[in-house]
Amino acid sequence: MANTTSSHAPLEGGCACGTLRYRLETTPLFVHCCHCTYCQREEGTAFAINAMIESSFLTLLTPTSPLIVDTPSESGLGQRIARCPKCFVAIWSYYGGMGPVVSFVRVGTLDDPNRSPPDIHIYTGTKQDWVILPQGVPAVEEYYDQNIYWPKESLARKESIRPQLQAYRRSLEERMRQVEQVIKDASS
Ligand SMILES: [Zn+2]
Ligand SMILES: [Zn+2]
Repeated sequence: MANTTSSHAPLEGGCACGTLRYRLETTPLFVHCCHCTYCQREEGTAFAINAMIESSFLTLLTPTSPLIVDTPSESGLGQRIARCPKCFVAIWSYYGGMGPVVSFVRVGTLDDPNRSPPDIHIYTGTKQDWVILPQGVPAVEEYYDQNIYWPKESLARKESIRPQLQAYRRSLEERMRQVEQVIKDASS
């Protein structure tokens, strides 16, 4: 599968007021254009474009930490949106399945968003009627299997962060067990 992601790393970007600036130290793993209703509502527009990258390759260039805001998502697992604490522009998200290990960077905050066009259109079942999808870019009604669509290089990079992803999922399961115990204790 062709990956249209540009190979001219690094990419830089930032919020509207300049308090947060960041750099992508390598090319994104994959770029989603998401047409789900949650993204439409949260962006206030037709879709969200997110460049997925290992969080270890996302460098904050400014001293201020982003504000992390818990927000619902289409998957039901929720997302944590990193926003500028001053102008509140959303810079990246952590999603349920991959947690803080992978950052979903908002492509519109890049200085040159043309260098990270979508590799796939997802949740096209709910896309706005006027949006015409481009020829030659994969499009799926809902979500997709990474093994089918991701380029080999990105799958290899995912393989190398498997230990961190597994540790994150174990911590999620542990938290779920604790929540279930609290519920059990409260109802007994
Ligand atoms: Zn700002
Ligand atoms: Zn979405």
